[in-house]
Amino acid sequence: MNNQSLIEADPEIFQTIQKESVRQKNGLEMIASENYASLAVMQAQGSIMTNKYAEGYPHKRYYGGCEFVDQAEILAIDRLKKLFNAPFANVQPHSGSQANQAVFLANLKLHDTILGLDLSNGGHLTHGSPVNSSGIFYRGATYKIDPESEAKPKLIIAGYSAYPRFLDFEKFKNIADDVGAELLVDMAHFAGLVATGHHPSPFPYADYVTSTTHKTLRGPRGGIILTQKEEKSKLVNSRIFPGIQGGPLMHVIAAKAVAFGEALRPDFKTYIGNVILNAKTLSEELLSQGFELVTGGTDNHLLLLDLSKTEVTGKLAETALDESGITVNKNTVPNEKRSPFVTSGIRIGTPALTTRGMGPNEMRQIGKWITKVLKNPEDLKVKAQVKAEVESLTQSFPLYT
Ligand code: PLP
Repeated sequence: MNNQSLIEADPEIFQTIQKESVRQKNGLEMIASENYASLAVMQAQGSIMTNKYAEGYPHKRYYGGCEFVDQAEILAIDRLKKLFNAPFANVQPHSGSQANQAVFLANLKLHDTILGLDLSNGGHLTHGSPVNSSGIFYRGATYKIDPESEAKPKLIIAGYSAYPRFLDFEKFKNIADDVGAELLVDMAHFAGLVATGHHPSPFPYADYVTSTTHKTLRGPRGGIILTQKEEKSKLVNSRIFPGIQGGPLMHVIAAKAVAFGEALRPDFKTYIGNVILNAKTLSEELLSQGFELVTGGTDNHLLLLDLSKTEVTGKLAETALDESGITVNKNTVPNEKRSPFVTSGIRIGTPALTTRGMGPNEMRQIGKWITKVLKNPEDLKVKAQVKAEVESLTQSFPLYT
């Protein structure tokens, strides 16, 4: 048996991980969908549970030797149900995309219509985009931020990847009821806000709730599904396994349990409050510097800088900020005129920096740096200077020490 550590067994991969670690520590991570999982979450995810096959569900497995992975999965389920006050939970989806696929498979036939938020208005690829299986197997119809649609959907999705305000789930439910559709709330982005009471809960309105576990929820990469009715939970469980997945990732499920345990603690509520305060503070700083924001501000963990009236594209802004040690992503804005590869916006999020302990003072400083870089996106000297200042700031907020 090979007991060599990674550095001895595979120095090439060890080195790339080291470099990624330095990148994460020395830069400002402001991608709205990213966070820093705790050491405890990463230890569970890197644990021996990766070796175990456990097709099926706790106490109903197709393999022997599942007594301890059963315990881990039951802990994950119980904590998740408590976190969102939901009677039924599935913690097996390998990703947010697979959580959504299972709900589709549970409710739709080939070419049935899904109604989701338009990608260019902040929706997600899995909400009916023609390049995703959700738009290949089903008919993807879209609504925009100002909602109007002629579609007769079987499933309506409320949820987003890039939208800075709260969603009104009761309104969505009324519309779904009017057309006889089921309502899926994909809370991948704002799950941490719901868990801590900083965002209205999708329940009792949603028929299904899906989420990722690695964004504001700050767990390992993965997905979950919550339901309120037993028959829906049974159906969706069978769509995850054997419908679209085989063996669950038991090491990830153990890490999910750790993350849900963390999210149940009072300090997680304080953390999410700070995430929102930081996003609002950064918004105010950028507005005061003369920038425009989609919807004029934010209620959640992200903001969308609208550069459509400027010469600077989203693509250029992303590159210039990256070169200055600030990681964000280009994003389309409503009524986008540029191509999706260029775009007119950037999406900026505060979950990761808040995990590092940064607060309003740092947000105001970061807003000034963003302004400086976006006013001089080709100026190498400006970018080098900001990068040096960024690095110096990050030294005061150490990671994984
Ligand atoms: N749903 C929403 C709203 C998302 O933002 C994302 C990820 O960005 C997903 C689903 C997909 O999650 P994953 O990347 O885990 O497949």
